[in-house]
Amino acid sequence: MVASSDEAGSLSNASRAGRREANLRALNTRIAESQEQIATELSSPLTVLCECALADCNESIELTQEQFADLREDNIRFIVVEGHVLHEVEQVVGRGEVWVIVEKRGAAAREARRILE
Ligand SMILES: [Zn+2]
Repeated sequence: MVASSDEAGSLSNASRAGRREANLRALNTRIAESQEQIATELSSPLTVLCECALADCNESIELTQEQFADLREDNIRFIVVEGHVLHEVEQVVGRGEVWVIVEKRGAAAREARRILE
């Protein structure tokens, strides 16, 4: 019984991805809060950053405050630009016109929960 190094590698990648996304999520929450102070209508759009695991991504995403609040109900849900889904650590649970909501699995989910709790 030899633990495969591939498996260990993908676990640490997953946990790194979870950490990056959790940090982005905390940043987006602050961005959204500052925009919410200006916007008075619940339907006013918010602009947040793509919360994907790609280190060099700086895409932004527009969504309504209502959609953002729904997203924030679960610590393992993140919003990413269509095409930025990391299928090995997350699954798509919802989508808008240009963005998708992903839910973390396994090590990435545990890391995100650990950071955001
Ligand atoms: Zn992205």
